[in-house]
Amino acid sequence: MNTSRWRNGPHSNWGGPIRRAVVTGGCGFVGSHLCDDLLLDSDVEVVCVDNFLTSTGDNVVHCLSDDRFELLVHDVTEPIPVPGEVDLVLHLASPASPQDYLRLPVETLQAGSLGTFNALELARQKLARFVLASTSEVYGDPLQHPQQESYWGNVNPVGPRSVYDEAKRFAEAATTAYRTRHGVDTAIVRIFNTFGPRMRAEDGRAVPTFIRQALAGEPLTVTGDGSQTRSLCYVDDTVQGILAVAASSHPGPVNLGNPAETTVLELAHLVRDLSRSAAPIEFVARPVDDPGRRRPDITLAWEQFGWKPETDPRKGLSTTIDWFATQLNDTAARER
Ligand code: NAD
Repeated sequence: MNTSRWRNGPHSNWGGPIRRAVVTGGCGFVGSHLCDDLLLDSDVEVVCVDNFLTSTGDNVVHCLSDDRFELLVHDVTEPIPVPGEVDLVLHLASPASPQDYLRLPVETLQAGSLGTFNALELARQKLARFVLASTSEVYGDPLQHPQQESYWGNVNPVGPRSVYDEAKRFAEAATTAYRTRHGVDTAIVRIFNTFGPRMRAEDGRAVPTFIRQALAGEPLTVTGDGSQTRSLCYVDDTVQGILAVAASSHPGPVNLGNPAETTVLELAHLVRDLSRSAAPIEFVARPVDDPGRRRPDITLAWEQFGWKPETDPRKGLSTTIDWFATQLNDTAARER
């Protein structure tokens, strides 16, 4: 049976169905969910390109038995050797959590620059649709709320977060140049904070940190006074948004995120409640350049693709907490 979702939309320079997608960073949190979703389509093959810089093969181990899935262990800062036809390149390879990019500043800049050029070059050679996974961090510490795609951002180019913010801003410029100079069918999605199963407990982002602490009965460490806001989107919704943009011919940039704003303190309380944990809340110093507010304006995604987050944040958090609890139990069982 043909279960392709790609038949009706223009999505590549060929105008045909997407049969073979390359997902760089496909072993990571968002990338592995994208691979899963693409493989739901019986017509699609997936080449996952990853060098395990901030992941292992664990997130895609269940895909390895599928002969439509191929894992290429490769650093995208080197030209990406994928023989055969490719219709879609989803470029996600980059350290993404603050802890990772602060630990790997040069690698982050290289993934955003050299890695993006190599992924764009692959798309150019294959006449493939290209989608860059950019980020709300391009808005820096924004002076406009909510952030629209037309906002240029407020980024400190020499601050500690600049390695990530500027790498992504460069990646957006490179993507735009390949579109104008080489006619590559590109798109840019600006992803806001996404959460869900397969995040790493130690990756430093608020949701996995609070869940890990709550499940261990340790204090939930809220930075500053916790009044800074985040807008949290469940990973299934983010994946649907990325694929909606991929299936179109829209160049973006397109914001993908949940406009519902939550303070970091509210989030800590919610995680604690949903985890049924009695752990206390502890206030710790706020990192330098930590953005005060983030909230996407998703009018464009709604008007162009009918996309908006569908998952109730409490439900998404509960699913994520359950997943982390299972992981912890499995680890404990292995250690016994
Ligand atoms: P992640 O760290 O879980 O995944 C990133 C993956 O890229 C990892 O598997 C890593 O090994 C791989 N990688 C890094 N450098 C590489 C290289 N040079 N060559 C090959 N592979 C490399 O991060 P994530 O949260 O899944 O984020 C994925 C993408 O989405 C990133 O580009 C990130 O900037 C973007 N994004 C994520 C979020 C979010 O909330 N998760 C928000 C905005 C943007």
